[in-house]
Amino acid sequence: MSAVVGLPEIEAARARIAGMIRPTPVDPSPGLSERAGVPVWLKLEHLQHTGSFKLRGASNAVARLDEAARARGVAAASTGNHGRALAHAARRAGARAVICMSALVPRNKVEAIEALGAEARIVGASQDDAQVEVDRLVAEEGMVSIPPFDHRDVIAGQGTLGLEMIEAVPELDTLVVQLSGGGLIAGIAAAAKARRPAVRVVGVSMARGAAMQASLAAGRPVPVEELPTLADSLGGGIGHDNRHTFAMVRELVDEVVLLSEPEIAAGVRHCYWQERQVVEGAGGAGVAAMLAGRVAARGPVMLLLSGGNIDMKLHHRIVSGEDVDVAVEEAPCPESGS
Ligand SMILES: *Cc1c(COP(=O)(O)O)cnc(C)c1O
Repeated sequence: MSAVVGLPEIEAARARIAGMIRPTPVDPSPGLSERAGVPVWLKLEHLQHTGSFKLRGASNAVARLDEAARARGVAAASTGNHGRALAHAARRAGARAVICMSALVPRNKVEAIEALGAEARIVGASQDDAQVEVDRLVAEEGMVSIPPFDHRDVIAGQGTLGLEMIEAVPELDTLVVQLSGGGLIAGIAAAAKARRPAVRVVGVSMARGAAMQASLAAGRPVPVEELPTLADSLGGGIGHDNRHTFAMVRELVDEVVLLSEPEIAAGVRHCYWQERQVVEGAGGAGVAAMLAGRVAARGPVMLLLSGGNIDMKLHHRIVSGEDVDVAVEEAPCPESGS
């Protein structure tokens, strides 16, 4: 099978997860449209159940499991949006879910995963140790590992967003999509370009540790140093044995924009004061790219608000205008990312 996930898989995913996810609204942004001189639309996916689009991919992957695999259960090493989404999707399907995390993960994150019905397994002192436990669960207990981005069913699930986006605004010129491991943008670009080949897809990453951008430049997956960032959901590498997203991003993404930390904060702030939406750093990155003048406005633009899971005290400080720099506040945290 080709590395690339295509429209038929994405359309099948949409039928499969209908009823498990909420189709989210597309609203115009009068303020951004006025500034850009072209219509600017916002896809409000931070309003998805569990607070991010990751529920689409996780729901599709869990729904694809047969009865026996579902009984053995699913496992992942993510404490962020993917962990939440997988816990929610598994509970809905009546499957066991084990989310592995290191002893460094804050108690509130562990409790959030448990509140969603998953089993939190605390192992070791790093994300790598947690992944070793996932691999052990797969090898010894027959559990199914559902990774956050480099998986066909996950990519196809995220791609259902691309269908909703193009159907809402068929004359779209440019789509601006967050880019970390690339499952999100790969799925969206595959769907949108199949329906409208002329659409331009722009990826947005934070300048601090942009693994996909570095890999594109190197021509192969390369590791990057993971640094604290306001866009913590965009952290992490793409995997040296990347099977799908690297090839798809190289083929389907037209351009990648990198953002500074103050630019990411400005996105969160604009979403709150101008659009009245609470987004996390990663969630506002598309808006941030537009505000920073980094997206050429040639025709109708759609920006994705990808997630809303932010600590509300941090959110309050950002929207109050405080100059928040997580790099000086936190030691580098191996638990960030998807
Ligand atoms: C995971 C995530 C992303 C990035 O998705 P990838 O598939 O890893 O590129 C963007 N925004 C939010 C809120 C996320 O949770």
